[in-house]
This record gives sequence, C-alpha cells and structure tokens, in this order.
Amino acid sequence: MAATIIDGQAVADRMRAAIKDEAGAFAAQHGYPPGLGVVLVGDDPASAQYVRMKRRACEAAGMASFASILPASGTQEEVDNAVRVLNDDPHVHGILVQLPLPPQIDEERILRLVSLNKDVDGFHPENIGLLAMKGRDPLFTPATPTGCMVLLREAGANLEGANAVVLGRSNIVGMPIALMLMKANATVTMCHSRTRDLPGVVRGADVLIAAIGRPNFVKGDWLKPGVTVIDVGTNKVDDPSDPRGYRFVGDVDFEAALPVAGAITKVPGGVGPMTITMLMANTLKAARRIAG
Ligand code: NAP
Repeated sequence: MAATIIDGQAVADRMRAAIKDEAGAFAAQHGYPPGLGVVLVGDDPASAQYVRMKRRACEAAGMASFASILPASGTQEEVDNAVRVLNDDPHVHGILVQLPLPPQIDEERILRLVSLNKDVDGFHPENIGLLAMKGRDPLFTPATPTGCMVLLREAGANLEGANAVVLGRSNIVGMPIALMLMKANATVTMCHSRTRDLPGVVRGADVLIAAIGRPNFVKGDWLKPGVTVIDVGTNKVDDPSDPRGYRFVGDVDFEAALPVAGAITKVPGGVGPMTITMLMANTLKAARRIAG
C-alpha cells in the first residue's frame, strides 16, 4: 500500500489561519499587532528571498514586520546595534537574524545578543542549552525542527520508544530535531558524513528525518516498511521539462519510498511551508509573553 502523504501545506494553511485570528485578537487588545524584526546582512539572493517570504507571511497574518538591512561590508558594531534597536523596540516581539552572516561578523556573539524573550528562532545558546537538558524547556525552539515535530504529530507517529534516525547534524536542523525527538522519548541515532553503513542504520528507523541536502540520496530499499519519513532536504535539480528548467527534490527518493513507507512528506509542500508558520507561531507566543 502506498504511503500516506503528510501534507505540510495543508497543516501550515490551517495553522496560519488560526495565527491570523489570534494576531487580530492581540492587535484589538493592545492597539498594535505582534511584530517580527529581521536583521539581514549582505545581498545573498537566497537570504533576501527568505526574508521577503517571511515579511509577506507576517503581513498576510496581520503581523507587523520590521527589517534592518545592512550591506555585506557591515561591521560587527553595526550589526550589534541593529539587534539592540530591535531588542529595545516594544513593537518588536520576535527577532530573527538571517544566517549565514558575512565572515567578519561573530555569529555566536550576535545570537547571544538577541533578547532571550524575543529569540523566536530559538538559536540563542541558552535556549539550545535548555533544549538539550532533561527536565528543562527552552522559551522557543527552532522553526524547521518544530515544524517537523508538528508534522510527526499530524501523521500520528508514535515516538515513545521509537527508533528515530536523523540524517544530518547541522545547528539549524539535525541537532535540534534530534534533541526534540529525544525529549519526546524516541531512541535517537544521529548520522552525518562519517557515519558507517548509513543504509544499515536507516533500515532500523521507525521514524526517519532526512536533512543532509543531497538529492534523492536515501533509496527505497534502505527503508523499513511502514517508516514515517520527514524529508527536510530541499535540493534544486535540473529539469528541462519544467518551464523554469529546474525543480526541487528532497533527500529521499520519493517515488522509491512511496510503496515502502507508512507516511512521507513531499518536497516541496512538506516541511518548507511549516518553517515560516512556526516562526509566526513563535512570534505570537513572544508577543503574548511580553505584552501579557
Ligand atoms: P548543512 O548545514 O549543510 O548540514 C548537512 C548535514 O548533512 C551535515 O551534518 C553533514 O555531515 C550531513 N551530510 C552531508 N552529506 C552527507 C552524506 N553523504 N551522508 C551523511 N550525512 C551527510 O545542511 P542544513 O542547513 O541542515 O540543511 C539540510 C537540508 O535541509 C538542505 O537541503 C536544506 O536546503 C534543507 N533545509 C530546509 C529547510 C526548510 O524549511 N524546508 C530549512 C533548513 C534546511 P557533517 O556534519 O559530517 O558535514
């Protein structure tokens, strides 16, 4: 039987509608909407595109968005100041520093500078530290992994005692999702570029999170029948049949996985739409915490 498709777009649309209602209620109560402040340094087209998407999504949900855009030559002091201004602005409830930052900027210092109460990206080392500790909870968790956890819940995945395999150990996806799965009582194996016998490890997975950035890397015969697959990978591949000349595929060979997996996300339309949605949900949460 073909796997159930976990429709991230539908889940995101539903959540965004609820966020819009709640943002409207917040604005009616306080006289101003929840606000997200974004710091963008440099002119990387992908980063600029992400920032535009976040702005549009905020505005569509009735939230304010504030952008602080600095040139690629921006100094540490200028970026520090941009963060401080947003920290001090009472109409900004969440702050996002678009990564990566240019090499002259100390990323660790900037992430620490973001007010803990406004750390809607969940990358402040204190929030990550709290995520890693048993019995503690961070104020905010990073958007993409949080979106993955929502999709697992939507798919009805039973994480308690499940073997969860995470492919990738990046600070923004692999590492935090592994911590979140552990908090949900899964038995977690983290894999990376030095992992031996990756197919063998993946075959033990009841839940598989793929976040390595390699198109169609995970093959159908690596999968345990019935596995729940969350494919975070977003890889641009040439496709002359597409009017754009390219399309996006995940890290998992979707067609080969379909007859084996129990449930699987699509790329695009899976994790992608959830990321900005979780950022907006965190901004609303921050606004409520700050404004009461
Ligand atoms: P990243 O920082 O490049 O990290 C990639 C990870 O994959 C690293 O831990 C690396 O191992 C591991 N890896 C690379 N090649 C491997 C291989 N052949 N076998 C096993 N492990 C391998 O990537 P990222 O930022 O986490 O992003 C991963 C993917 O998710 C990308 O396609 C990205 O576009 C996508 N993404 C999507 C969203 C979304 O909203 N949908 C958000 C973020 C990222 P080492 O640590 O050993 O180098």
